[in-house]
Amino acid sequence: MEKQPPLDADRRITGTLFVLSAPSGTGKTTICSQLCQLVPDLVFSVSSTTRSPRTGERPGIDYHFVSIAEFERKIEAGLWAEWARVHGNYYGTSAEFLDAALVRRQTVLLDIDVQGARQIRKRYPDCVTVFIMPPSMEALQTRLAARQTDDAATITKRLTNARDEISQKDQYQHIIVNDDLQTAVDEMVALISQYR
Ligand code: ADP
Ligand code: 5GP
Repeated sequence: MEKQPPLDADRRITGTLFVLSAPSGTGKTTICSQLCQLVPDLVFSVSSTTRSPRTGERPGIDYHFVSIAEFERKIEAGLWAEWARVHGNYYGTSAEFLDAALVRRQTVLLDIDVQGARQIRKRYPDCVTVFIMPPSMEALQTRLAARQTDDAATITKRLTNARDEISQKDQYQHIIVNDDLQTAVDEMVALISQYR
């Protein structure tokens, strides 16, 4: 296999890294999958998680579904570029995958929570951070219910977490409101073109 050049010491001379965060149910997954179809060569970073797959989720495409023991072993070994506990489950981004994509100067999209975004900002200072807002808390609740993937207690937990995440939106460089889906996707496409 061809040997990869080492990642630049300060991780600056690399591809372009977009970090998207939003409260659960806002529409990040929907936006990311449309972006992957619309933007040529966009690489979506598939996270690992210890939560169970939802109906329709495909291992290796939506998430790498791993055990708690495996996730914790990789924490010990320092193999995550970032990781966090969200809604009681572990989520993380592989450092090896991310560094290799950036060394190849690819444009990479991360869908991660606010704790993970903070770690990525430290590790890759040139990353572009975007917070996607729901049009209102009522709309968020409706979307979470409409998705039919979470029970009432989980939806309550996600809404409580949403208020905390929204209070941190000013840590992001760009804010996009996902009211009309097409408008939000168009704004993201324009942003990606602006930075590439
Ligand atoms: P997230 O990844 O942020 O948790 P999803 O992409 O799973 O959110 O979207 C949650 C639900 O909201 C889905 O049923 C999706 O079809 C719907 N949705 C996404 N964007 C919009 C929008 N702009 N207007 C109405 N419903 C939306
Ligand atoms: P869900 O379980 O709804 O797919 O995701 C729950 C939350 O975990 C979302 O806010 C999502 O952005 C976040 N998340 C998904 N993957 C990662 C990851 O690799 N790292 C971190 N920190 N958060 C993630």
